[in-house]
Amino acid sequence: SSIFAAVEMAPRDPILGLNESFNADTRSTKVNLGVGVYFDDNGKIPLLAAVKAAEEARLKAAPPRGYQPIEGSPAYNQAVQNLLLGKDSALIANGQVITAQALGGTGALKIGADYLKRLSPNAKVYISDPSWENHRALFESAGFVVENYPYYDAATRGVNFAGMKACLNSLEAGSIIILHACCHNPTGADLSDAQWQEVVDVCRARGLVPFLDMAYQGFADGIDADAVAVRAFSASGLQFFVSSSFSKSFSLYGERVGALSVITASKEEAGRVLSQVKRVIRTNYSNPPIHGGALVAAVLSSPELRQMWETELAGMRDRIRAMRTGLVEAIKAQGVAQDFSFVVQQRGMFSYTGLTAAQVERMKDEFGIYAVSTGRICLAALNTKNLEYVAKAIAAVTK
Ligand code: PLP
Repeated sequence: SSIFAAVEMAPRDPILGLNESFNADTRSTKVNLGVGVYFDDNGKIPLLAAVKAAEEARLKAAPPRGYQPIEGSPAYNQAVQNLLLGKDSALIANGQVITAQALGGTGALKIGADYLKRLSPNAKVYISDPSWENHRALFESAGFVVENYPYYDAATRGVNFAGMKACLNSLEAGSIIILHACCHNPTGADLSDAQWQEVVDVCRARGLVPFLDMAYQGFADGIDADAVAVRAFSASGLQFFVSSSFSKSFSLYGERVGALSVITASKEEAGRVLSQVKRVIRTNYSNPPIHGGALVAAVLSSPELRQMWETELAGMRDRIRAMRTGLVEAIKAQGVAQDFSFVVQQRGMFSYTGLTAAQVERMKDEFGIYAVSTGRICLAALNTKNLEYVAKAIAAVTK
């Protein structure tokens, strides 16, 4: 019989599975608020003008397609460090930071996880409750035991910071803490600058290993403002990991553009750490693809293209904000008594709406509006054409 005869069907990915159901829905009014992708007001994934210009220049230059270094393009890695730490960072000048181009933010987390498993095989990994659904799976598949730390407080729709801090304070030295650097996915609830400083202090006091996941830099308040957590850690003298993703901020989802950065204690240490990270990469996919990283590096290193990109990024950020305000007003206009104004306070692409799984189910069945069963919606999938319709549906299921 077949060697696959006893293979069981794996469960569907909760969010990508939602896409499949959405695509099969024949209603013309259907809306997909499930997936974490930025759409423009016409419901299209934008090709940023800065990216298009960089791509045209690259096609014209027609460069050869040799292998990249194992850690990817030096120009790209330098640009990533500047975005994260600021171009005047002493850590960069000292050579304490290593960066490896990776296959999206997911690829960066996976390289980091595999390397950490070699570095600290017995450490436990802690993720926020709740977190991006792939965090747990990713670190478990690297061989770690993964636990939650308290994060979201449904009563205040904010962060249960006392609970989070108490938990971090109780962890064993060497525990690995995954932190959302900004625009927390799925809740939209972020820490304040002062709270970040407290987290830094706890990590120092307890000897924890921070791993910051930066998937939405520029989507809350701006490039530097959204790096506040990274900057607080970089000023602390601690060692830490950062995964970067440019899927959203450059609208380059399918090109898989990300990076793993590790902040070490010295240049000499950085050299040794990089040599080990390269080993992980070499045995996974050898070296990263060229194209997406080359576009990001070109945009970030040209003053004109960088300015263009920052303007386009601000446009995406402002449009999401406008959708937050618009949704709250439209729900109110439907005569819903419940106060949804918290949606305006949440940051990034997502909102934990407080809609129950049953309400989400009704939105799908009665309106063809798809959301995650936890009540998470993606604000970046709203536009001036579907906003009213979504507000009507939320009113219908919550009244
Ligand atoms: N981390 C978080 C918190 C995310 O929300 C995402 C994407 O949704 C990622 C990482 C992965 O990003 P990428 O698509 O670049 O792999």
